[in-house]
Amino acid sequence: MSLTLVQAWTSAKKRLEAAQVDSPVIDARLLVEAAAAASRTDIISDPHRPLSAEQAATLDAYVGRRERREPVSHILGRKGFWKIMLGVNRHVLTPRPETEVIVDLALKSFPEGMAFSMLDLGVGSGAIALAILAERPAARGLGVDASEEALAVARENAANLGLAGRLALLRGDWTAGVDDASFDLVVSNPPYIATDVIETLQPEVRDHEPRLALDGGPDGLAPYRILATEILRVLKPGGVFAVEIGYDQSAAVEALFNEAGGYGVVTVKDLSNKDRVVTGTKNPLGNSGTMG
Ligand code: GLN
Repeated sequence: MSLTLVQAWTSAKKRLEAAQVDSPVIDARLLVEAAAAASRTDIISDPHRPLSAEQAATLDAYVGRRERREPVSHILGRKGFWKIMLGVNRHVLTPRPETEVIVDLALKSFPEGMAFSMLDLGVGSGAIALAILAERPAARGLGVDASEEALAVARENAANLGLAGRLALLRGDWTAGVDDASFDLVVSNPPYIATDVIETLQPEVRDHEPRLALDGGPDGLAPYRILATEILRVLKPGGVFAVEIGYDQSAAVEALFNEAGGYGVVTVKDLSNKDRVVTGTKNPLGNSGTMG
């Protein structure tokens, strides 16, 4: 007797509940859809459609991986972010909805049709840069990452979205080699988890996501100590920056950007009402008191 879509969903959900997965209903649905090549509507409008033996076997393997706490994004190899779909793997941080705050701020600062240059430090999958470029046809970007494997993911995503011509990708150590006053916008979602805290995170993050994209050093703030000064250096006068932070890092990161000469430095909350992004500008008249 073959399994129907609704039976497949129910049994997958039960297995994921037993494995203490956070969102068993949604995850089960996403895995059934992928394994059975079904849309969300199919599951509701055609619940008794049978899965082929091959589809059932694929689903069993997917659920097995999810039971071992592999993220859905790694099983499916993709994740939606803002209005785009991105390929992802274990070499990049899976894009998270809270990071969309950076995209939202950037789009508000740079109206459609405006030509501007953007730098994304720690570009990873390309999520932030590509979401912005997709909506700002006159913009161009540079994405920098320390990981060649991450750059390969960003490169493929840019190509799939038809944005490769406007996103240059460079392997590098943050802003090394980037000229002074060369970008209108600098964005970053740097690693900001304190090293000791990583072991306490859920297995999906701890065991499957790249340490390079998570580990912010002993207090989680090490990257910002470099980035604050460097971002103010590479921004053009009047340019805008937006960096993601951990929920308890607002005061420390604001202070670093203020010390570096940032203007109008503020923290913006995410949809869960947690402090999430520190943003500000570089003085349009040049930096901190130096004339000419
Ligand atoms: N927000 C991510 C998490 O809590 C971490 C992202 C980061 O370090 N940049 O898992």
